Amino acid sequence: MTEVTAPPGIELVTDTVSDRVAGDTEITGWPIAFISSKWGASDQNRTSPRDAWGDVTIYKTQGGRYVVVRESLSLRYHASPTTCRMINDIPPGYAAYRKDLEAAADDLEVPECRPCPECLPPDQADLAEDEQVRYEWPKVQVTVCETSARAVAHLTRSRRGGSDHAQVSEPVRALLAEAARADPDWQRGERPMVRIS
Ligand SMILES: [Zn+2]
Repeated sequence: MTEVTAPPGIELVTDTVSDRVAGDTEITGWPIAFISSKWGASDQNRTSPRDAWGDVTIYKTQGGRYVVVRESLSLRYHASPTTCRMINDIPPGYAAYRKDLEAAADDLEVPECRPCPECLPPDQADLAEDEQVRYEWPKVQVTVCETSARAVAHLTRSRRGGSDHAQVSEPVRALLAEAARADPDWQRGERPMVRIS
């Protein structure tokens, strides 16, 4: 097994990510790169976060593997029952109460969650303790990659509608550049290569 180099200046951490359905995942490693669309593009100069956004973190483990954590995060909650529907005709969110919204707002570092402007549930502070709403709980996707090349492939290639896509958005480019800067082993790894014929 090849030697694993600690990324200089980055501390080893243990983080837990939570998914309503899949449960908790605990990751111990060095967080070498992170992007978030919480505040939109920097030229938008937002003063408050978006209603819903995505975070991506790349961890390097002491075993030299890479863990890509993609989180879908939201401040929005709906009435229960709600007239809102997602694309697949399912109502958005899952059951939640005021204390859940308070905990979520704390986690996401905002004063409070936001009532949906379509189905108009009460403001968080006006909810009775036992009054149910439907909160868009975080969704998490955790992918363990044996090499940096696999992590790059995971983040840049997808299969949609039966076709392969190799398309790299600007945020993902920035994320990968950050990983390469932070981790000496990242650059030593093979570059991903796809053969098309
Ligand atoms: Zn709604």
